[in-house]
Amino acid sequence: MSGNKTLVFKPKLKDKTWNPSKETILFEKWQKEGIYRFDENSDKEVFSIDTPPPYVNTPVHIGQAYTYVWMDIFARYKRMNGYNVLFPMGLDKNGLPVEVQAEKTFGITMHETPREEFISKCKQLLQESGETSLETFKRLGLSCNSWKLEHKIGGRYETDDPEYRRLTQETFIEFWKRGLIYEDEKVTNYCPVCRTTISDAEVEYEEEETLLNYIKFKVKETGEEILIATTRPELLCSCRIVLFNPSDERYQHLKGKHAIVPIYGHSVKIIPHPYAKPEFGSGLVMICSFGDYSDIRILRELDLDPIFAIDEEGKMNEKAGKYKGLKVEEARKRIIEDLKAEGVIVKQEKILQRKPICWRSKNPIEFVPMKEFYLKQVEFKNEILKLADNMRFFAPESKQILIDWINSIDIDWVISRRRYYGTEIPLWYCKKCGYTYVPEPGRYYQPWKEPPPISKCPKCGGTEFRGEERTFDTWFDSATSEVYILGYLWNKEFFRKNFPCSLRPQGKEIVRNWLYFAILKSFLLFNKEPFRNVWIHMHVVDEYGRKMSKSAGNIIDPQDVIEKFGSEAFRIWTSLEGNITRGDIRCSFERIRGTSKFLTKLWNIARFISSFPQVNDDYELAPLDKMILARLNELISECRKGYENMNTFRAATAIRTFTWNIFADHYLEAVKSRAYNRNNIFSQKLQRGAWYTLHKCLETILKLLAPVCPFITEAIWLELYSKESIHVQRFPEEKEEWRDSIVNLLSEFMDFDNAIWQYKKKQNIALNQELNATVYAPINLKPFKEDLKAMHRIKNLVFGKPSPNEEAEKISEETEVYIVKN
Ligand SMILES: [Zn+2]
Ligand SMILES: [Zn+2]
Repeated sequence: MSGNKTLVFKPKLKDKTWNPSKETILFEKWQKEGIYRFDENSDKEVFSIDTPPPYVNTPVHIGQAYTYVWMDIFARYKRMNGYNVLFPMGLDKNGLPVEVQAEKTFGITMHETPREEFISKCKQLLQESGETSLETFKRLGLSCNSWKLEHKIGGRYETDDPEYRRLTQETFIEFWKRGLIYEDEKVTNYCPVCRTTISDAEVEYEEEETLLNYIKFKVKETGEEILIATTRPELLCSCRIVLFNPSDERYQHLKGKHAIVPIYGHSVKIIPHPYAKPEFGSGLVMICSFGDYSDIRILRELDLDPIFAIDEEGKMNEKAGKYKGLKVEEARKRIIEDLKAEGVIVKQEKILQRKPICWRSKNPIEFVPMKEFYLKQVEFKNEILKLADNMRFFAPESKQILIDWINSIDIDWVISRRRYYGTEIPLWYCKKCGYTYVPEPGRYYQPWKEPPPISKCPKCGGTEFRGEERTFDTWFDSATSEVYILGYLWNKEFFRKNFPCSLRPQGKEIVRNWLYFAILKSFLLFNKEPFRNVWIHMHVVDEYGRKMSKSAGNIIDPQDVIEKFGSEAFRIWTSLEGNITRGDIRCSFERIRGTSKFLTKLWNIARFISSFPQVNDDYELAPLDKMILARLNELISECRKGYENMNTFRAATAIRTFTWNIFADHYLEAVKSRAYNRNNIFSQKLQRGAWYTLHKCLETILKLLAPVCPFITEAIWLELYSKESIHVQRFPEEKEEWRDSIVNLLSEFMDFDNAIWQYKKKQNIALNQELNATVYAPINLKPFKEDLKAMHRIKNLVFGKPSPNEEAEKISEETEVYIVKN
């Protein structure tokens, strides 16, 4: 026994505190060891994550950083549970943003620059910004399979890669052959700023205050003056008909007569139609081509030819007469002045209007006729709804966003765009007979710059062809990301075995395009849902709940956070702040700094424990040890529930509460005396029991926390427990031998501690100073007698209640603790 006195307890963990500079060293080590690489020949069950490839023209923003960390946590948890985790890094490079940026940066206009030259300018910009994005993701410690652009399962991918575009074209060719694609001239949503057709999925709405103008029209047959209210007087030239409600008594006499349109002088029919609402404006409504979706619907229904007055640049055309060449808003202003001058505007009212805008440029959209390619979808709505039922949503209520969207679809998907930086539509046309040639799949085609793979037109023998110049809607590329990452192009057997993809994580604002289009294409290609699980997240906002934006000046750059606190601080914050599938997450430097204190606490705990030897035999557990191990068992189960339900908030909160508020505050304080055993109060076996328990708890906490905090847990793990990374260890399972009903005493135990600490504080007695009194503790706590006595240095500890003739003071509200002063 006396040998113990010579034992020196020195921390094995050398650094006094957690040092974030270790993060990059550990990251490099993982890359070198290749512990996250994907092995497509492994026997393990695959868990695949269809990571959302971020668009690279802007730095990684806080919302991306936050949600990518969560995805990484899902990946790490599954990996520790024995799955072969497919967690690819992708970058989105197709489409409009880079084109706009190239125009700005180089002072050029897309349609006036040779296509080849314009594309190479875009590539140049994408190269630089792509590297920046990857650096940030690496600093966040993501366990992606590979950071190298590789045409293999698990490789990094980019949506403008010829290989990726080959897949997009292959799906088009398949749809074409099956008659699912058609070309049609329809009125489509058109963004004059982006200069392209956009699909309904890309239309957003904005509430806007606008003027409702009451304009006098004359009835041709009687000369009577009638009032028509409109928000878009600039479209008078394209007015085609005037409606009143069939039940509106005021206007029955106008049926079949004509109204003369001011300024332009053409006359249009007046008819009853239920679309006119008696309570809106004057009850008379003019239908133009086109002010909104209703105009389109009604003219179609009445079979009236539209008059298009707005061109592709968003300017009035010759139909608008003297307003030709003016932008829509300008034309509106001018025509109002003219109408006022003519005295035909009777009054103006301010009203709120729901205005359709482009989701990228936020500009009002117009409706223009365009010949475009469409992919059929309306006829499959019911089947697609059925597939949606096969997918599990986190949170479950997010599914409704998808259902509502599917139900609202009433037009096929317009998939062609008049842009340069996108995947080309692989078609050629015979110059002689107009025959459309679609090539065989197998490679990436660029019809605008290369001849077709055939030399003669199969129909007429002609030898000259015109290549299609249009590209696809970029969602048509994105909608097969899960097909690409699962190796459809390279390993059909792997694909068949592992499709549907295990998880699609994404934002709620792209449910109607990214998620929906993936389901549509998956239905058409495989008649199957593309995902087993869908995780839908909300947004990261500022500390007051406001959206972060450049103009509000409240942007928090994740690079700054990493610079200041390290990436582990950011990671632990993402998991302790809240569950982003249930609501927006508030972010500030202060909140991140606050939650990161847990890292310091964890390091201190580990360093303290690292002073003691690790033992696996010849130990005896005290009731105190059994109680904390039983509680640790409960923590394991709680963490598993959290992670399994993609709720890392639940898991991380449970870990912090256990580690800090229970294990450190109570167990460590109580077990210290026994672990050191300086006065040989305890048997060596019980001392070894303390050592065993300390290390088991720490080891388990590290493994439970490893998915959230891969750096600090790894640093401690490698220094204390094993040369093999913590990230290839098995995630803890509950242990039968740790289960013990003694855990039910834990809260009473903690109440007792708190009572003594408060009492000492009140009496100005230092916590490590002897309490020269008799303390009566609840009888339940008797098994902990020796540890409690040593911990609180209580002179006389008795279990039970004092007798009535003793002068005892009750010192706890929560439990029966009494003090009798000596
Ligand atoms: Zn736009
Ligand atoms: Zn031909």
